[in-house]
Amino acid sequence: MLNIVIFGPPGSGKGTQSENLIKTYNLEHISTGDLLRKEISTNTQLGALAKGHMDKGELVPDDVIIGMIDSFLDKMKNANGVIFDGFPRTVAQAEALQELLKTYKTDVNVTLNLNVPDEELITRLIERGKTSGRSDDNLETIKTRLQTYNNQTKPVLDFYKKQGVAVDIKGVGTIDAIFADIKKAVDAVK
Ligand code: ADP
Repeated sequence: MLNIVIFGPPGSGKGTQSENLIKTYNLEHISTGDLLRKEISTNTQLGALAKGHMDKGELVPDDVIIGMIDSFLDKMKNANGVIFDGFPRTVAQAEALQELLKTYKTDVNVTLNLNVPDEELITRLIERGKTSGRSDDNLETIKTRLQTYNNQTKPVLDFYKKQGVAVDIKGVGTIDAIFADIKKAVDAVK
């Protein structure tokens, strides 16, 4: 299996580049943000719990997220590989993912770290807010999301650096130019 973590702050282009990866490598895709938004739009109990955290720019509790990943992986036994988008967002999630993947005798092959300066992120997220209909795309929440990223999510990068699977990708430029760098990094581990 080819397992890719697409990593970076909110607004760094994880969703966009995931689409390119899916098309190029025929992989399954899991976006925890999308799954949570689906729970919200179908008014589930999990959705109600998640919305409270998401609207504040905070993370949804690890046990909820890990449970979602566990049931997703269960359905992926025969997949070519998986793109993890927006997950793991804490070191506890990264450790849980490693344990779950062990049961399938596989691991994360590469973590693509999209680098984008904060100012550019804020501009992109505010732009996205105009059309996304996402209640967390407003300036106040965006600022908290960036703080949450720096405090809780950035340490995940060190976890993958220690394992030698993290690759830095310049996340500014055209979508195609960024994907060309991503493709090089993925082809190197394929
Ligand atoms: P973005 O596109 O801004 O990076 P996402 O769509 O990935 O955001 O996630 C939106 C929100 O959903 C996050 O701010 C967080 O509250 C929640 N969320 C998504 N994935 C996770 C996760 N792996 N762990 C905890 N919370 C998560």
